[in-house]
Amino acid sequence: MKAWLQRFMSGRHGQDDLNRALPVLSLCFLTVSLFTQWPAFYVLTLIPMSSCAFRMFSRDTKKRARENLAFLQVKDQAARKLRQSETRFHQRKTHRFYKCPSCAQTLRVPKGKGRLEIRCPKCGTSFERQT
Ligand SMILES: [Zn+2]
Repeated sequence: MKAWLQRFMSGRHGQDDLNRALPVLSLCFLTVSLFTQWPAFYVLTLIPMSSCAFRMFSRDTKKRARENLAFLQVKDQAARKLRQSETRFHQRKTHRFYKCPSCAQTLRVPKGKGRLEIRCPKCGTSFERQT
């Protein structure tokens, strides 16, 4: 049995991060469908599960690797934004956050110092803001 499975899975993509996330998404749709009783969400549970099975048994490993890489980039970007939000929330009483009008760099300045001229360290643009 084990040798048969190894032969069957040889050359196939198998498991990756995206394939681990798709059943979680499917479970979320299933939970929503249980509480709302909307059949559309139940049908939506089938899409991530079927694509998970398709990706696992696919022999086009390069394409699956590209999909997984794109998923990981989106996941990392979301995690980075979440960490930034946490940092801002913890520093909300001591600092203010502004975006540079020229390059959109986020700048952190101390709070309660009156009107300050803020100079962007990235592009050198200066602007005034109340802190
Ligand atoms: Zn700037």
